[in-house]
Amino acid sequence: MTTAILSALPEEQAGLLAHLQQPRRVEHAGRAFWWGSLHGQPVVLALSGIGKVAAATTATALIERFGVARIVFTGVAGGVGEGVRVGDVVVAHDYVQHDMDVSPLFERWQVPGYPGVRLPCDAGLSAHLFRAVSACLAGDGASFYENSDGTPPRLHRGLMASGDRFVTCAQVSRALREPLVAAGHDVLAVEMEGAAVAQVCLDYGVPFAAMRTISDRADDDAHVDFPVFIQTVASRYADHIVRHLLESL
Ligand code: SAH
Repeated sequence: MTTAILSALPEEQAGLLAHLQQPRRVEHAGRAFWWGSLHGQPVVLALSGIGKVAAATTATALIERFGVARIVFTGVAGGVGEGVRVGDVVVAHDYVQHDMDVSPLFERWQVPGYPGVRLPCDAGLSAHLFRAVSACLAGDGASFYENSDGTPPRLHRGLMASGDRFVTCAQVSRALREPLVAAGHDVLAVEMEGAAVAQVCLDYGVPFAAMRTISDRADDDAHVDFPVFIQTVASRYADHIVRHLLESL
C-alpha cells in the first residue's frame, strides 16, 4: 500500500526527501515523483504544483501512474477562522472551492456533479493524521513556533477552502469567509490546492487527508509572514507529522 505525500512547495518537501530511503526519481507529466521508503512505509513524494489544476493533475498521476492507495497533503495555509493563528495546525474535515460559483443553477460553491458544497476527506485517514499532529504538538512540535503571548500552537479540525488566489488582504479574506459562514460553512483556513485533490480522490475512491500549518492570517501582512514561516517552521512540522503518521499506519 503506497502512500503519496503531497507538498505544495519545495521547502515543505525538503525534510521528507532528506529522509527518503532507496530514493528513485521518476519524471512524469513534467513533474518529479520520488519513490522510496519513509519510516518503513512505501511512499511517493510529489509537489502538487500551485493552484487547483496543477494539484488535480498531480493527484491524477499519483493514482493512475503510481497506483497509490492514499494521498496525504501537508502544506501551509492562511488562517481565516476565529482563533486560528499563525503556527496552529488545521486538519481538514472537508473542503470547499471558494471560487466555484454556478449559481443560481446550483448552490453557490457547489461543483456540479457532486452531492453538496463540501467535498469530504476520508474519515479514517484523517483520524490517523489528527492523532499524528496531536502527537507532534504534544512533543517536539510544541517548540517549533511560539506565539507572541507565549502560548503553544493549537490543533483545529474543520472546513478548509481552496481557490486560485493567494489571499493577502483582510478585505478579500472577509469577502471570502463571511458568505460561507452565513451559509453554515465555518471555514478555518484558505489555501490553493486541497479541494482539487479532494475532488480527484472522490472520483477515484482513493482516501485523502490534509493538514496545513497556518503561515499567515490571509490579511495585509500575509506577504511578509509567508516566506519566513515556510523556511523556518512549516517544513519541520511536515517532517515530524509525516513520521508520526507513517509509523501509525
Ligand atoms: N512563493 C511560492 C508561491 C506560493 S503560493 C512560489 O514562488 O512558488 C501560496 C501557497 O501557500 C499555496 O500553495 C497555498 O496553498 C498556500 N497558502 C498559504 N497562505 C495562503 C493564503 N493566504 N492564501 C492562499 N493560499 C495560501
